[in-house]
Amino acid sequence: MSDSNNTHPPTHVIIAGAGMGGLTLALALLKKGFDVDIYEQSPELREVGAGLWISANGAKVMAALGLKETLEKINLPPQDRLIRFWKTGEGKSVYNRGNSPSNADHTLIQVLRSELQRVLYEAVVAIKPDAVHFGVRSVGADTVDGRARLMLDDGSHIEGDVVVGCDGAHSRIRQSMFGPAPARYTGALAWRGLAPMSKLKPQHAEALASTWVGPTAHVTTYPVQKNGEMFVSFSAQVDSDTWHTESWSEKGDLADALKDFEGWHQDIIDLFVGSENLFRWGLFVRDPLDAWSKGQVTLVGDACHSMTPYLGMGVNMTMEDAFVLARCLEQGGGDIVRALGQYDRARIDRANRTKAESLRMFGIFHSPDLTNAETAWPYIDRNWSAEAVRERYDWLLQYDATAVEI
Ligand SMILES: Cc1cc2nc3c(=O)[nH]c(=O)nc-3n(C[C@H](O)[C@H](O)[C@H](O)COP(=O)(O)OP(=O)(O)OC[C@H]3O[C@@H](n4cnc5c(N)ncnc54)[C@H](O)[C@@H]3O)c2cc1C
Repeated sequence: MSDSNNTHPPTHVIIAGAGMGGLTLALALLKKGFDVDIYEQSPELREVGAGLWISANGAKVMAALGLKETLEKINLPPQDRLIRFWKTGEGKSVYNRGNSPSNADHTLIQVLRSELQRVLYEAVVAIKPDAVHFGVRSVGADTVDGRARLMLDDGSHIEGDVVVGCDGAHSRIRQSMFGPAPARYTGALAWRGLAPMSKLKPQHAEALASTWVGPTAHVTTYPVQKNGEMFVSFSAQVDSDTWHTESWSEKGDLADALKDFEGWHQDIIDLFVGSENLFRWGLFVRDPLDAWSKGQVTLVGDACHSMTPYLGMGVNMTMEDAFVLARCLEQGGGDIVRALGQYDRARIDRANRTKAESLRMFGIFHSPDLTNAETAWPYIDRNWSAEAVRERYDWLLQYDATAVEI
């Protein structure tokens, strides 16, 4: 519990943003006896047509929060994870099982993003029904006289013991703490879509998490489900000199997508054609932060370490942050500044390393060697050998936010 002495009110944590980080943090804190209020700018939980995968490191957090069985109901687990050649679709398994030297668990939980958000939201409001306040936009945060304040766009503020900015990559809280963080274009744009299985060929229903790799682009595809209806979620990254907005709810045109994927295997083309909606945005990066906390204000998730999607770690790092922060606040026993210092020490190096390694994957997923099969297969075998996969993923997947020393 946050306060063992029942005569004191529980520590009150104010959270900006009801995305994956804000809701995971709220749930972890409520379960430990803290009081929590979340202020979310959207008028309601928004349906975003995209899949997410939760890897073993994120799954440990979900299990500790009691969500293992609920997630099993919305999961469509892959039987294999493949790296596939863009022209033919032939694949190499990178699950790193069997005779590999890896000890890491490569299991993936594949869900619709909106379903994960719903599950987290329902778990939060089951403990505190009025915890989430919609339609409230934050513009900053600070600490005055031992109280943390969340500033709102109507000029008012909300006070608590701690404020946590879980307000995503464009975080206003981060900006108010550390100034503007200019975003640099990575030289790649991203596409995403969600295609109903009813519009696709039967092979799309195979329980596979696939990353199709080509000379200047790659595409990750996997099936997801909602109420028994199946979809294929896909996201694609393409080298491009042209800049696009950073917002990932920007609509894209099918004709542009088909130009970007000219010559690709028909299964990929079918996904673009069959998708309910297509979105296109530019992939940007910001310099890593060397501090996440200031006074009684701190950050979680994309607000402090937005990263390229190449290791599928954005949400998993966010879940780790949330759980570790809840543990630090619990251990801090009311000394907020000390607890936030402990949180920074526990998390920043790991998150920044993940951010850097994720960006490095860009040069591996796209290569001129992938143009033709003669050079592509030696390239794939080398870059996704058991050893390469072990080096790339073991340190990520083996981390346990629920038990790591803090
Ligand atoms: C297409 C796509 C696929 C992805 N797939 C994966 C994957 O497979 N695995 C993985 O690990 N990661 C994945 N990610 C990354 C992952 O979605 C993010 O890293 C994760 O959602 C970060 O959580 P967050 O809470 O920090 O931010 P978000 O989930 O973006 O939530 C931020 C919340 O804050 C709210 N907000 C923003 N500004 C304000 C404000 N001023 N006031 C109040 N509220 C505000 C927003 O409305 C939102 O609800 C993917 C991302 C994309 C775009």
